[in-house]
Amino acid sequence: MIIDGHTDVLWALTRERRKFSEKSETGHVDLPRLRKGNVLAAFFAVFPAMSDFEIYKGVDQWFSLIEDQENNLLQVKSAEDITKCKVNDKIGAVLHFEGSGGIDSEFLTLKNYYRMGLRSIGLSWSNVNRFATGVTFNMLSGESFEQDRGLTEIGKELVKELNNLGIIADVSHLNEKSFWDVIDQTSKPIIASHSNAYSICNHPRNLKDEQIRAIAETNGTIGLNFCVSFLSGDKKKDQIQLEDLKNHIDHIVELVGINHIGFGSDFDGASVPDVMKDVSYYPVLVDYLDKNGYDKEDIQKIESQNFLRVMKEVWK
Ligand SMILES: [Zn+2]
Repeated sequence: MIIDGHTDVLWALTRERRKFSEKSETGHVDLPRLRKGNVLAAFFAVFPAMSDFEIYKGVDQWFSLIEDQENNLLQVKSAEDITKCKVNDKIGAVLHFEGSGGIDSEFLTLKNYYRMGLRSIGLSWSNVNRFATGVTFNMLSGESFEQDRGLTEIGKELVKELNNLGIIADVSHLNEKSFWDVIDQTSKPIIASHSNAYSICNHPRNLKDEQIRAIAETNGTIGLNFCVSFLSGDKKKDQIQLEDLKNHIDHIVELVGINHIGFGSDFDGASVPDVMKDVSYYPVLVDYLDKNGYDKEDIQKIESQNFLRVMKEVWK
């Protein structure tokens, strides 16, 4: 069964008129499709998390979703909760903030969000905030901005506070300087919840080889992102094949072994290939990996065990 390191379903439900509990023809994630996809748990991103108001709104929406019994969700705050999901036939939901813009510099809001169940946070979405610098770039030219700004002093403190509290630091949207500052500060495993390999597709949101090695050295995990433009520089959504997804997995495995790659789909937040149309398509990808060089143990690691290990090490 799958643990998906990044979905934007919360955000999608604010834009699209559909119910989480019912199968829809639009979007990528809902309860029936999560079931069909064999998903055990997923990170549900509050997005955009760039101001306190957006975070309040997102957290309220999150609790409305969790509290509705029809949705069959269970809030995951510990690794044991993942087992509870299995036993009680629930889908686990991890509260994640995609950005730290609404967190105060004394971390009081952060502590309270931890109490509410926040277990993962991106230090910046692709923007500049008081803590960190995101990968900001010109959509047309791909030229990166703000390359010389990394974590601020208070941003370095934030990483330590995340380690202390037991919240996973997610580096997916950070620029390179911030990324390396996080590596310098963290004493716990980190994740790049939804990023791919830059050597395979040179998009600024993807990870260079030395970044992939550094994440592995923290004992962290990278979630494979299904976003078309992070998978391939030139192929369109109807041209991308499962092999294109596997190429990123292969590359990461060649660099650092099998223990640091999982899935971080970006479903409901990105344009995805026809071969992975929505979250119900996971078994197709898993079957493809099974037939193309990955054994049962490898597949379990990619599906869930690599993310689960990070949860166990960071959440106490
Ligand atoms: Zn994202």
